[in-house]
This record gives sequence, C-alpha cells and structure tokens, in this order.
Amino acid sequence: MTKRNRAARAFLIGDTMMKTCLNCNETKLTDEFHQRPGAVDGLRGECKVCHNARRNAWTTAHYDEHTERVKDWQSRNIDKKRAITAEWAKVHPEQQLELQRTWNRAHPEKTRAWNAKRRAAKTRAAVPWADQRLIQFKYDLAARMTEATGYQWDVDHIIPLRHKLVCGLHVENNLQVITHTANIKKGNRVQL
Ligand SMILES: [Zn+2]
Repeated sequence: MTKRNRAARAFLIGDTMMKTCLNCNETKLTDEFHQRPGAVDGLRGECKVCHNARRNAWTTAHYDEHTERVKDWQSRNIDKKRAITAEWAKVHPEQQLELQRTWNRAHPEKTRAWNAKRRAAKTRAAVPWADQRLIQFKYDLAARMTEATGYQWDVDHIIPLRHKLVCGLHVENNLQVITHTANIKKGNRVQL
C-alpha cells in the first residue's frame, strides 16, 4: 500500500482524537501533529517529531540556502522579526544575556556607543535629532585608532553631559576622539 492510500485521518479513541503518523507509523494525540489548513483533518500527515527531523535535516544539508532564506524573510519582516526576538529573549533571559555578552565582545565600538547613549538618556542629553550613524562613526574611529596605535583612544564629550555650568548633548558635534590619557587629564572640565 502506498503512503497516499493509507493517508490516515485523525480518529477517535474514546473521546480522544488520535492520528497515525505516515512516517513513523506511531499513533499519537493530534496535538503531536502540526496544523495544515486545507488537509482533510486540518493536520499534517507526519507527526511533529518526524516533520521537525526532516526540516532540520534539510536545513543542515542546505545551510547557506537556509541562511539566505531566513535573512531574506527577516529583511522583509523587520517588525515581526523584532517581536519574535523579543519574545524569545523574554522566555530565555539567561541565553539572551549570554548572546548579548558574546555580541558585545565581538563589537566593542558598537557597545561603547550604545552604553554612551544609554548614559546620555539618563541625563536627558540624548536628543531625537542626533544622527546615530555619525555618533557611531566616532566610536568606530576610536576603535580603529586604538588598533592602529596600540594604545587606548576614547570618545569624549567636548562639553560634559553633567557640569555645574553647562550641560552638553550626546550629539555628533559634541564628540571628539582623543587619547585615553588626554581624556583622563581633561576629566569633567570644559575647555573653552
Ligand atoms: Zn512520526
């Protein structure tokens, strides 16, 4: 008998809906089958375990194609992707923190820019019209200077964000790339 001929529909045992998987032939609760709108009983022919195994095998065998497809979908569904990521982070807080740490280590200049923005937000120095790309560019530059010279360069707020006389803004025009030594010497002073 071919698979098509014995394509099993869900059936009742007592008051429980059951279905036999086309692939592993196990009879399972209908909860163990993915939904398939349009199928006679609204369920896939193979159980979740079999379906996921087949999908994982395909993903492994076509890794590049799969990655491309995922990226393509994500670029067309940015909001959905964000929502899925946020939901995942809520359910897996520890893995999320570990992923974040790994990413931060791999992108120190982006992490510095992000931390600076967060600190600025606390002091109300962050403004909506700031050009985040140009701000990030200063942090990228500091990272490149550090790598090129072998000593630390910082991004400094020319006018400090917190000062008794003036309060600078976290905007690109108020950022300069200086050596860490010069930054320490300058401290929180305003150079006018
Ligand atoms: Zn199965």
